[in-house]
Amino acid sequence: MTPTSTPVNGTQPRHVRVGILGAGFGGLGMAIRLQQRGDTDFLVFERAADVGGTWWANTYPGCQCDIPSHLYSFSFAPNPNWTRTYPKQPELRDYLRATAEKFGIYDKVRLNTAVTAARWDADASLWRIETTNGGYTADVVVAAPGPLSEPSLPDLPGLDSFAGTVFHTATWNHDHDLRGRRVAVVGTGASAIQAVPEIAQQAGHLDVVQRTPPWVVPHRDRPITRVERFLYKNFPPLQRAVRAGVYLSRELLVPGLVYRPKLLKVAEKVARKHIADQVPDPELRAKVTPSYTIGCKRILPSNKWYPALGRENVELVTDDIVEIRPEGYVTTDGTLHEVDTIIFATGFYVTDIPLANIVYGVDGEQLAGVWHRSPQAYRGTAMAGFPNLFLLVGPNVGLGHNSIVFMIEAQLNYVLGALEAMRERGAGRVEVRADAVAAYNDRLQAKMGNTVWSSGGCASWYIDANGKNTTIWPDFTFAFWNQTRAFDPAAYELAPVAAGAGATAPGTLRA
Ligand code: NAP
Repeated sequence: MTPTSTPVNGTQPRHVRVGILGAGFGGLGMAIRLQQRGDTDFLVFERAADVGGTWWANTYPGCQCDIPSHLYSFSFAPNPNWTRTYPKQPELRDYLRATAEKFGIYDKVRLNTAVTAARWDADASLWRIETTNGGYTADVVVAAPGPLSEPSLPDLPGLDSFAGTVFHTATWNHDHDLRGRRVAVVGTGASAIQAVPEIAQQAGHLDVVQRTPPWVVPHRDRPITRVERFLYKNFPPLQRAVRAGVYLSRELLVPGLVYRPKLLKVAEKVARKHIADQVPDPELRAKVTPSYTIGCKRILPSNKWYPALGRENVELVTDDIVEIRPEGYVTTDGTLHEVDTIIFATGFYVTDIPLANIVYGVDGEQLAGVWHRSPQAYRGTAMAGFPNLFLLVGPNVGLGHNSIVFMIEAQLNYVLGALEAMRERGAGRVEVRADAVAAYNDRLQAKMGNTVWSSGGCASWYIDANGKNTTIWPDFTFAFWNQTRAFDPAAYELAPVAAGAGATAPGTLRA
């Protein structure tokens, strides 16, 4: 297959050793780690106008990371200047920009360049990457599309007929002034609980449409003082110690989440007290109190959520939406709720990531077709039938309780190990064995039974269309770190480049 058009400005190499898909935490991290090793033959393809991934895309009011700043950042790029204990979106976006700048990655990033297909060419032993800015080839592809990048809107009858304005929290419409409007926010997940308190201050009236209440705990967010920043800057081990402390405190949740959900009673007590403290109205209290075990869905920190729901201009609607009409939405009790703006905070396509629809492996098999709506990979990273392809934050790498950046860094080590093994063995092709994938996932799924995600009595997006949890890592995160610390060639077929194949030997630069 021939690439469809010439690449950007024609002066850049059309072939690279590593093609990286996405410039969020995963893609940038991969690029930086390669660059640090002197492996400069790579390009990053990013559909957005700048780097940052989810922290570039999500600009809804109140957008903030619910994992502490010191931990939600690269270990190799600490930032002593965080202004809050939990970073707000603009600060995180700026951190990623500054980090890309600092490590000299920007000129390797093809911005406004969406990858439309990636096809394995077995004869040439390389990937053919089609983008909106032309075709490229790469010996190895590292895909870092992010599990939470494609907004999901519910399929509600009549949605197209709505006469007002509709958008998703992940594609916020900044041209739409909410002041004085009648607004409905659909969903009460992590995005909604951050956006609703801000929207409530502007809207004339706000309906919050809740299907399942989240468990919400007090938020420890606060400004970081100038003295603290001075100390972090001048005495870096202190920041590393704080980072380690935050990491370990988060891991304390794992025994409850994974092995004995009863242990989560302590967290539930904290959340129940939060409701008691912040919701005086017994009727509202009943509506916001979940009936499933805490941790079954992501535990959300907020001091503003319950006070926002208690405001005069806010109504919590607990009947499901059955239909949208030009003037508003209709709930199961037959009420027409008149609104002029509907904001969906309804999450993302996670277990059916769009990337899987555009990646074709050996024999042209589509990744989504191979997965059958239950994504699986070896060590969350490699798929049988997809040689020289590594997926960051792949199946069962997700977390509810700790920093995903930790998992990403573990995967980066693993991928670098794979590239090193290819180099050492003169291999042009590395492919995980199907039996290794199956055994790994059997072991992993066997652990799911006792977890709160399986037994906690909730429906969550961690569970795929076949009823399997193919999203969350069911163990301590250091166990994942440990299993990805070194590449394990025994689980792979490593083959030399076929005679006459077009790919370069790993590590060499193709002219
Ligand atoms: P989400 O957690 O998937 O929440 C979606 C919400 O929409 C849920 O309350 C869901 O209800 C509701 N919903 C979906 N379809 C609906 C329908 N047809 N009618 C009514 N309600 C409907 O999505 P999110 O809030 O965007 O968060 C997704 C993930 O992004 C988070 O879990 C987190 O990992 C990440 N995130 C992180 C942060 C952060 O601070 N780090 C911030 C935002 C997001 P049900 O519960 O009943 O399904």
